Amino acid sequence: MLDADFFRRWMTVAAASVDREAGRLTALDSAIGDADHGSNLQRGFRAVAATLEQEAPDTPGAVLALSGKQLISTVGGASGPLYGTLLRRTGKALGDAAEVDTGQLAEALRAGVEGVMALGGAAPGDKTMLDALVPAVDALGDGFAAARAAAEAGAEATTPLRARKGRASYLGERSIGHQDPGATSSALLIAALEEAAGT
Ligand code: ADP
Ligand code: MG
Ligand code: MG
Repeated sequence: MLDADFFRRWMTVAAASVDREAGRLTALDSAIGDADHGSNLQRGFRAVAATLEQEAPDTPGAVLALSGKQLISTVGGASGPLYGTLLRRTGKALGDAAEVDTGQLAEALRAGVEGVMALGGAAPGDKTMLDALVPAVDALGDGFAAARAAAEAGAEATTPLRARKGRASYLGERSIGHQDPGATSSALLIAALEEAAGT
């Protein structure tokens, strides 16, 4: 079972991973965006880690709701409200249970991903974070390692796509041939689940 400690660990591991990979995320965003994705998420996830340390919410749902709220209030770019919605919706779907199982997490994340689609109007294939998140949620029933592999494959598969949403879509054909920064950070977020589980 996954308790509040696990979810705090997930966010802390994600923050460390974003810190480590911020340069790469910004480099990807400099090719097809405005070169701020790494610094956007670094600011956001540092705020998440700091808040979780101060407030120590005691249910999985409360950890994710607070984390999402922090991302929305600290990240200026498109990714802040989108990731914030992902975490808040997922947290809301988990309710106030003290512990949840992987199946419940998969179902809640599905609700979170639907929130991202509703907010941003994107679908899989549009070269966005959804290209990593949707396959990851689909694979989560097979475990965290399967979800990580699916998210990484999904992020890599954005390279030949033409962006239809977000800033990269302004480039039209010229967005082809570059991996999407948000799909790449989503793969980090999903990989952090596996690391937090210690598997
Ligand atoms: P900004 O584009 O405002 O500078 P970021 O650079 O932080 O924001 O984030 C860019 C990423 O956000 C993109 O790589 C893409 O994955 C994701 N993104 C942008 N628009 C959407 C959308 N409508 N739906 C889903 N994801 C999106
Ligand atoms: Mg950007
Ligand atoms: Mg920006």
